[in-house]
Amino acid sequence: MGALRDFFNPSKKIKIKGMQDTFYATDECDGCGECYRKCPTGHIKMKDGRPDWGKPCLMCAQCYDFCPKGAIRYGDPSSSGK
Ligand code: SF4
Ligand code: SF4
Repeated sequence: MGALRDFFNPSKKIKIKGMQDTFYATDECDGCGECYRKCPTGHIKMKDGRPDWGKPCLMCAQCYDFCPKGAIRYGDPSSSGK
């Protein structure tokens, strides 16, 4: 139970396999903000005209589905070359 409580405590930096995976936008992103508006939980913030995904999210994929540029990917951004 303690480990579960720590997982949801932002001051504890619990790392689990796959935790580095996140949504990110490719260079096709034009900063329209549609993903930000569609996110039901407010996990996406716009930062310098680009979406910035928070964690954890519901994995509902609304941001992905509604991006007019098809610019959203999921995975480890550092291994994509972007
Ligand atoms: S919806 Fe797509 S193009 Fe628009 S800001 Fe989000 S990632 Fe960029
Ligand atoms: S998958 Fe859903 S909850 Fe997660 S960032 Fe995208 S729209 Fe928001």
